[in-house]
Amino acid sequence: MPTATQPPPAKPSDDEPKSVIDMSKMNEGQRAALQATEAARESHDDLSFVAHLFMGRWKPEKLYPVTDVEAGEKVRADKFLAELGAFLRAKVDGEQIDRTGEIPDDVMAGLARLGCYGIKVPQQYGGLGFSQTSYCRACQLIASHCTNTFAHLSIHQSVGVPQPLMLFGTEEQKQKFLPRVAGGEISAFALTEAGVGSDPARMTTRAEPTADGEAFLLNGEKLWCSNGTRAGLLIVAAQTPPKMVDGRPRTQITTFVVEAKAPGVEVVCRSQFMGHRAIYNGVLRFTDVRVPRANIVGGEGRGLKVALTTLNAGRLSIPAASIGVAKRALQIAREWGKTRIQWGVPVGEHAAVAEKIRRIAAHAFAMEAMLVTTSRIVDRSKQADIRLEAAMCKLWGTEKAWLCLDDVMQIRGGRGYETEQSLLARGEQPYPVERLMRDNRVTTIFEGSSEIMRLFIMREALDPHLKVAGIALNSERPWGERLKSLLNAAAFYAFWYPRQWLPAGGGAPAGMHPHLADHLDGVAGLGRRMARTLFHQMVRHGVKLEKRQVLLGRIADIGTDLFAIAAACVFAQKLLGDGEPEAKVFMLVDDFRAQALVRIKQNFAGISDNADEHGYQLAQQVINGEHRWVERGIV
Ligand SMILES: Cc1cc2nc3c(=O)[nH]c(=O)nc-3n(C[C@H](O)[C@H](O)[C@H](O)COP(=O)(O)OP(=O)(O)OC[C@H]3O[C@@H](n4cnc5c(N)ncnc54)[C@H](O)[C@@H]3O)c2cc1C
Repeated sequence: MPTATQPPPAKPSDDEPKSVIDMSKMNEGQRAALQATEAARESHDDLSFVAHLFMGRWKPEKLYPVTDVEAGEKVRADKFLAELGAFLRAKVDGEQIDRTGEIPDDVMAGLARLGCYGIKVPQQYGGLGFSQTSYCRACQLIASHCTNTFAHLSIHQSVGVPQPLMLFGTEEQKQKFLPRVAGGEISAFALTEAGVGSDPARMTTRAEPTADGEAFLLNGEKLWCSNGTRAGLLIVAAQTPPKMVDGRPRTQITTFVVEAKAPGVEVVCRSQFMGHRAIYNGVLRFTDVRVPRANIVGGEGRGLKVALTTLNAGRLSIPAASIGVAKRALQIAREWGKTRIQWGVPVGEHAAVAEKIRRIAAHAFAMEAMLVTTSRIVDRSKQADIRLEAAMCKLWGTEKAWLCLDDVMQIRGGRGYETEQSLLARGEQPYPVERLMRDNRVTTIFEGSSEIMRLFIMREALDPHLKVAGIALNSERPWGERLKSLLNAAAFYAFWYPRQWLPAGGGAPAGMHPHLADHLDGVAGLGRRMARTLFHQMVRHGVKLEKRQVLLGRIADIGTDLFAIAAACVFAQKLLGDGEPEAKVFMLVDDFRAQALVRIKQNFAGISDNADEHGYQLAQQVINGEHRWVERGIV
């Protein structure tokens, strides 16, 4: 458990599942998975900007002002980033790492000398002790140059041993393990198994207590463990003996720090992928591996919470990399758009190409706005609720980075599709578009796929409604309780609902430039429209709303774009304060906002005008083999 000096990042929710969700129509597997996931949810009394926005409440002060890191750290971080940048340019050959699938030992040693294995680890444990904001700047820088090196360092410290120990470790665990990992001993995170990916609650790896109770024996196999083939320390999640609740066994998951050299730990094979070829990813087998009880992280049975909270907090490094990638795409698009002449003019002057350049610029700008705004919230308070903002940064950043790469590949024409080595051999500038695309495709899949991020966002968005009306809708609860809940809900909505129709905006914080304040104010009105739309869908679909994933996805995307506009405004205000020219900043903010408003409008329209149900039926017929005739004519 966290020590008195290091409280957990969020108030833990009860071990018992949230009974506000009706599980009566679920099979045992669905019920067990949902119970475990619900028990592992973080809960916060002080909700975030986005959580309030989904309820139509306007709290811009949660985002504003976006401040700089404290002056002392800024000087140190600037120096570190300058040295890191010089090292990357001089020593890290991204093309070679991709081609060979290996990060050379001298590169790893150089990164360790710079302190890159413990960027956020407190100085007292041998790390650099930087804030989330400075860590994200480092991730952005590294990913803009070599995505393999980024993945190696990010997995090590965002989800590997440092992050869960910093959040949940005991003082003894911190003293024992953090100096090792901060010094360059590689760590990895082993959660996924062949049968469980997005739904880790049903994992089969088991840890049984030894007779003396001093240790556990770990048995099982973990799939796709990045850094796993090189790691010295692993975070492993496993099932420990179930707890009996209401006469039924309740799954218990526990996380352990495991020494990779311990007898019984075996790298079965190294996995190979489309990109990220130096990710040192493998299948790990554990056979009667003795793990001391003292290596449990966060308490027995709290492993899913440790894993999910770690992913929540660690989730910001991937969007930081997405910024690095989007900025690189912008740089390439700018240079090629200006120098490649076709039909007598630079290709960037053809409107169809210009549209893509504009999109990349706006996306790169907004990604940075969202991430910096969220990172500063984390730095202000480790207890702050950033679940929705972090999920949105991950969802939006990775999806938009992919679009940026798709756009820049199109702008580069045939050269976009050509490898760096081939370009260089012909004497051309080896822009790494092909490599970046291969490496980045996976970012919408791992550490929470886009589909799971949208579900997560909507689960959290619906939470206040479930707290108010969930029991009334839950057929598993006694009638008396349901009736009481119904009356409470009626009283709540009689007050809440009319407020969602208020015409005016919400007002911007004092000190904002009127132009930005006006944009920000507009988010409040759209937020209320989103809140009442969600409510209407709840009333229309009742408990079946959770099945309407495509519809909920549109609302998640509206919320994400609204957060993006709000973040763009508050970040722009910071840029003005830093002395950036107003006209240039407004050009970006205005264009991004215009693009986001088009998407928001389309998503609102799609809520009432769609072919979702028909499409779902077709998909079910396809997977049941009813349309195999469409597959005729292939090998
Ligand atoms: C390169 C790489 C590195 C990785 N590194 C690690 C690592 O270091 N440690 C680790 O533990 N794991 C790692 N993983 C695993 C990764 O986290 C999983 O791939 C991811 O969680 C998705 O699981 P899955 O691939 O089994 O997909 P599945 O869970 O089988 O999902 C298949 C598809 O269904 C969708 N889906 C699933 N459930 C739902 C739902 N309820 N509603 C809607 N859609 C749904 C998914 O989004 C996906 O599109 C890595 C994977 C890769 C490819």
